[in-house]
Amino acid sequence: MNFATKLLHGSTTLDPATGASSVPIYQASTFHQADLEQPGAFDYARSGNPTRQALEEAIAALEGGERGFAFASGMAAISGVFMLFSAGDHIVVAEDVYGGTYRFLTRVLSRMGIEVTFVDTTSLEAVQAAITPATKGLYLETPSNPTLKVTDLEAVCRIAKRHDLLVIVDNTFLTPYYQRPLEWGADVVVHSATKFIGGHSDVVAGLAVTRSASLGEQLYLIQNGIGAVLGVQDCWLVMRGLKTLKARLDVSSRSAGQIACWLTQHPAVEKVYYTGLPEHEGHLVQERQSSGHGAVLSFDVGSKERAKQVLHNARLPLVAVSLGAVESILSYPAMMSHAAMPQEERESRGITDGLIRLSVGLEDVEDLLADLAQALHDLPPVELDTEAKKTFSRA
Ligand SMILES: *Cc1c(COP(=O)(O)O)cnc(C)c1O
Repeated sequence: MNFATKLLHGSTTLDPATGASSVPIYQASTFHQADLEQPGAFDYARSGNPTRQALEEAIAALEGGERGFAFASGMAAISGVFMLFSAGDHIVVAEDVYGGTYRFLTRVLSRMGIEVTFVDTTSLEAVQAAITPATKGLYLETPSNPTLKVTDLEAVCRIAKRHDLLVIVDNTFLTPYYQRPLEWGADVVVHSATKFIGGHSDVVAGLAVTRSASLGEQLYLIQNGIGAVLGVQDCWLVMRGLKTLKARLDVSSRSAGQIACWLTQHPAVEKVYYTGLPEHEGHLVQERQSSGHGAVLSFDVGSKERAKQVLHNARLPLVAVSLGAVESILSYPAMMSHAAMPQEERESRGITDGLIRLSVGLEDVEDLLADLAQALHDLPPVELDTEAKKTFSRA
């Protein structure tokens, strides 16, 4: 089955008991045991519920893994997966991971005796150099947020396997439609299903998938033990969002590509980050390991004043934290997702005061372009020669 067909004829669609066209919301916390000697498939809803199970089976099938898990948020999934490690372990982590992941690692996990080193995972030498005898894991996000740096999954997984590391990939930005990290050798995939998978800015949810059944058993112990499971109504919403994932991403990504090209020509824009642009540093790796470039792009208008003006002028996109929804969302990393990062460190990662991130939704692209045109209209051209403008590399 191809991807869209899988979305519609996987475990999320038919209720085997009644033939209903969507899996019912089993609003039940416990299950009657008719025979104590032969317990039923479900006993208590933290441990398992048919609605949640349908979603967990669906995401496992889409990512090509053995076991899927639905958590109360992306961060619940991510922190749950980090519980696979033990005191004394060391983990190599991509330096520009999601802000919440960075906070969890530096403020919470560090108290549990688990050490972390942040590295630029686009450099294989840097990954290799960070591995110590205590290293047990490698945690990646590709493309990264907000400058969309691309990590070569196959190459880093090869290094990781030589050192017996558990490889975890946050696949939120691309979803299994465009990228399936388990196929390149990763062991666990995590998602904020709040974003593209849910897709409608109306639910907070997280998912995880393990490549092997034995890792699945370990993660199940953690999911059931910590108890941060996704409620059944939210499971249903995520399954509903999932059915249109391909249709939504096809449209949003096509528009994102057009907008990215348009922005590269705009005199008020200094730099554009989108992996679909041939000039993007990670373009070729992205083309090799993914089947699309996704719906998120970033662009730099040169200063905080100018960025604020654009955010103020834009009428169609929401100005908000988050991404991956039916409506377009503009966000301002310097004051939103990366506000806690010291300015120097932020700027060294290309997250300048002029950087704006755009998650492209399902509006007509002509309307989005017209809105961006008027939002950028008052900005004087940035003073850059054309050569510099063509460089889409990070700072
Ligand atoms: C939003 C996000 C998360 C966190 O997910 P929540 O559902 O907000 O807990 C993790 N990783 C990435 C890449 C995200 O965008």
